[in-house]
Amino acid sequence: MTSAATTATGLRRVGEQALGITWADGAESTLPLREIRLACGCAVCVNEVTGAPQLDPDTVPADIGAVRIAPVGHYALTFTWTDGHATGIYPWENLRALADGFGATQDGGA
Ligand SMILES: [Zn+2]
Repeated sequence: MTSAATTATGLRRVGEQALGITWADGAESTLPLREIRLACGCAVCVNEVTGAPQLDPDTVPADIGAVRIAPVGHYALTFTWTDGHATGIYPWENLRALADGFGATQDGGA
């Protein structure tokens, strides 16, 4: 994956429950916020030792939103969720991989 594929040039809210990301390689992604929440890799959501998921998707509201979305240096984003969770850090690589799983509108190969 090129660095352009994991460099975001734009972020925008898409309604209340999705985040749009424009990437430096020209791709555009729209990620449902709930999917980002479910992909949280923090120590509360994923067992640090075994890597086993600790988060029960049923406990994440279907209408979960982001109170705050903020950059972490140049490498990641952090979210404060409406369920109060705020410990996850999402490297751009992870967000791009998640986005590609949903199919970017351009350059969104399998
Ligand atoms: Zn988490």
